[in-house]
Amino acid sequence: MTGPWIPFSKPHRARNELAYVEQVLASGHTHGDGPFTEQATARLLEIVGARAGLLTGSGTHALELAAWLLDLGPGDEVIVPSFTFSTTAASIVATGATPVFVDVDPRTASIDVGAVEAAVNPRTRAVSVVHYGGVAPDMDRLAEVAHRTGIAIVEDDAHGLGATWKGRACGTFGVLAALSFHATKNVQCGEGGALLVNDPALLARAEILREKGTDRSRFLRGEVDKYTWVDRGSSYLLSELSAAVLAAQLEEFDTVQAARHSIWDRYAAALTPWAAAIGGDVMSPPAGAGHPAHVFYVLAPSRAARGDLLDHLRGVGIGATFHYMPLHSSAAGRRFGRTPFGCPVTEDISARMVRLPLWPDMTDADVDRVIAAVLAFTPARIP
Ligand SMILES: *Cc1c(COP(=O)(O)O)cnc(C)c1O
Repeated sequence: MTGPWIPFSKPHRARNELAYVEQVLASGHTHGDGPFTEQATARLLEIVGARAGLLTGSGTHALELAAWLLDLGPGDEVIVPSFTFSTTAASIVATGATPVFVDVDPRTASIDVGAVEAAVNPRTRAVSVVHYGGVAPDMDRLAEVAHRTGIAIVEDDAHGLGATWKGRACGTFGVLAALSFHATKNVQCGEGGALLVNDPALLARAEILREKGTDRSRFLRGEVDKYTWVDRGSSYLLSELSAAVLAAQLEEFDTVQAARHSIWDRYAAALTPWAAAIGGDVMSPPAGAGHPAHVFYVLAPSRAARGDLLDHLRGVGIGATFHYMPLHSSAAGRRFGRTPFGCPVTEDISARMVRLPLWPDMTDADVDRVIAAVLAFTPARIP
């Protein structure tokens, strides 16, 4: 069962990435918004079926842009899940607004729509929905709550490229959606991201905030004869060198996704009965949520069993890992956020989750080894 280390994640090498990077260097246009930015953006919009998008230096930058575009400030609240990455909340804190932490749904590990509804108050401006592992919560119900209470939906779609809810692409539900191309995501360029702009009224300002507060994007299109400082802003562009890698990666999106899904399906088939037998669980997205095979996780029967399972897997050379620590009880979450109700599901899954290696170039033998290692594990005490 032991063998060479199988990492948790390993970026896919796309066929054209080196040639494209060379092309960028040869062209001299290494800064943002060159031809590869255009190519990658077009492909992204095609995959998601969104109208407009801007590449950014990271998913976090896209979230920050979204927070500024909503004109958040002190006194405003945005509802976020406790079970997520720090910057879902930190991007809100950057504007002076308050993240309000709510629990997640045990079936999706994504935001609990009932908790969102209960947390809305007159200060609430938006809800940030994280599709955990690309598994959307009930978006019909969330849209109904948002519409009725007059709050905006923003999607932290960092896991969700290729995900759907009832056939509609994740990334098209919010007024704004943030994608990430960090090295660990399904499509990667080291560090990178994109902001999808689904409300056309926000696009012009999005371009300005991303271009250091200037109207340089309009200048480059010949719409104004010089560019000046017109609004707040920062440097949120993606380097054309990174965009070249991203464009090459996106050319292979379909094959990468097919490979990931086949590994995910093998894990689910082999490990579902095992999990049931030991009183645990495996990731099982509800009908309606089309996941993008971004993660595959098991839930050990207890926190102690999770520790033992991780030790066991690492001991035989398998890079399994835990995931998010709850944000609501973190040092910064307590300092900057508000938590109106307990988040017991977040605490529970955070304590019991083990994510298995999942990357497109894993061999069948790698997958066999991971499965065999998991099946060989029995917790010390079945609760
Ligand atoms: C990866 C990730 C981000 C941030 O993306 P970066 O590109 O690393 O800045 C934000 N939210 C979630 C849920 C993520 O997984």
